[in-house]
Amino acid sequence: MTKNYIAGEWLAAAEACPNINPSNTNDVVGEYALASATETEHAIAAASDAFPAWSHSTIQARHDILKAVGDEIQARKDELGRLLSREEGKTLPEGIGEVTRAAQIFQFFAGECLRVAGEKLSSVRPSVDVEITREPVGVIGLITPWNFPIAIPAWKIAPALAYGNTIVLKPAELVPGSAHALAEIIVRAGVPAGVFNLVMGRGAIVGEKMLSSSKVSAISFTGSVPTGRKIAQSCITSEPMKKLQLEMGGKNPMVVLDDADLKLAVGCAVNSAFFSTGQRCTASSRLIVTEGIHDQFVAAMQERMRGLVIDDALKAGTDIGPVVDQSQLDQDLTYISIGQAEGAKLVAGGKLLKREAPGFYLAPALLTEVSNQMRVAREEIFGPVATVIRAKDYDEALELANDTPFGLSSGICTTSLKYASHFKRNAEAGMVMVNIPTAGVDYHVPFGGRKASSYGSREQGRYAQEFYTSVKTAYTFEGNGP
Ligand code: ADP
Repeated sequence: MTKNYIAGEWLAAAEACPNINPSNTNDVVGEYALASATETEHAIAAASDAFPAWSHSTIQARHDILKAVGDEIQARKDELGRLLSREEGKTLPEGIGEVTRAAQIFQFFAGECLRVAGEKLSSVRPSVDVEITREPVGVIGLITPWNFPIAIPAWKIAPALAYGNTIVLKPAELVPGSAHALAEIIVRAGVPAGVFNLVMGRGAIVGEKMLSSSKVSAISFTGSVPTGRKIAQSCITSEPMKKLQLEMGGKNPMVVLDDADLKLAVGCAVNSAFFSTGQRCTASSRLIVTEGIHDQFVAAMQERMRGLVIDDALKAGTDIGPVVDQSQLDQDLTYISIGQAEGAKLVAGGKLLKREAPGFYLAPALLTEVSNQMRVAREEIFGPVATVIRAKDYDEALELANDTPFGLSSGICTTSLKYASHFKRNAEAGMVMVNIPTAGVDYHVPFGGRKASSYGSREQGRYAQEFYTSVKTAYTFEGNGP
């Protein structure tokens, strides 16, 4: 059994869970410990005990640990990428790419350890000096999803440690392997006992314990909207209230205007909608296409989709791997049927595929004649299913793009500077993409959205410090008496 890491020790658990390869369900990646509520409490207590010393550790010590973590991940990217693709189902190049991203994030935050700045201001009162500094928050609970098994833990762990916090990480049940490999690297880099704890297990047990603990000061969560809402309620009703950061779903639009470069637009749409099996919160699931280019665009998409290779994630030449598991596959198929029942036309894919080994293979689906009010255009499907929505002109396309409960990433393909500039300013989303896929972001700049997509301050880049530090304002009287 692959163990949890609690209070500086690798500990087995009473229960274990098999980690299944979605490209070949006969392949068991390993048996991973499922932590109990008591073990979670133990991890939280260890993180709490370790906090005073770690929060006062030198920035050099933190830098060196984060750099060592980044460097080892980078050196082992092929092996870790293979493990990631095997347990999650994204293709091997995508898996290696994600691992490389995790390494870059640790390296970036190693540098950020050295750049925590404060401010010194003049007071409005005589002989008073004001300083604003940033301090660590405390024990931070990190709850992560299955779709980015190493990058999302990395972009929460690296800033949490960089700014002097201690951690309890609960990765998603479906992908404990990459989190476990990352934990081994963090331990090897010399992180003191209790500073970093790994508790693999169920949301309802491990997650709930983290939410109800008075020793946890903050929760950073990435996952679904319903779970995010539950977590928000718990954080606000718990004693004391917890600082909170939520990254949730998307229903990201990609607008294609008449004047778009068709080849580039199709490339952006196929990449955003279907790569990583469409299982990205930044995926384009609404392709909003203006009248003059609509039919050409749909035809070019069908042509391009015919050429996609859907197969085992580890096989050379695979463009798109399997869906992550049976329940996600059922959800994808259900939404395709819902779309058809609502009047949409399935013009490509949407069928189960048989491959050498038993796995969750689905041909990416394209639904046309979709209205923005249909469920397939409003609800997040989280699979390789894209909808095409017809728009009269730019104005209507923008209105449709913004008419959604979500607001993570919003894209436009156009050769017009006027429309590109207007869209950048008026898209109601945290990230806007011009002539580039809605998915795929840099690691040194903020990531996050608006409306139902996100809550709390941004992740990644320097903006991450907003969540992982607590601001202190200090006043000093420098005169002889008040
Ligand atoms: P997904 O559809 O990505 O699995 P979830 O929101 O269900 O989205 O899961 C994201 C993460 O939240 C996972 O690590 C999961 O175990 C965890 N989780 C699920 N339910 C809860 C809960 N009630 N409390 C805390 N964490 C939870």
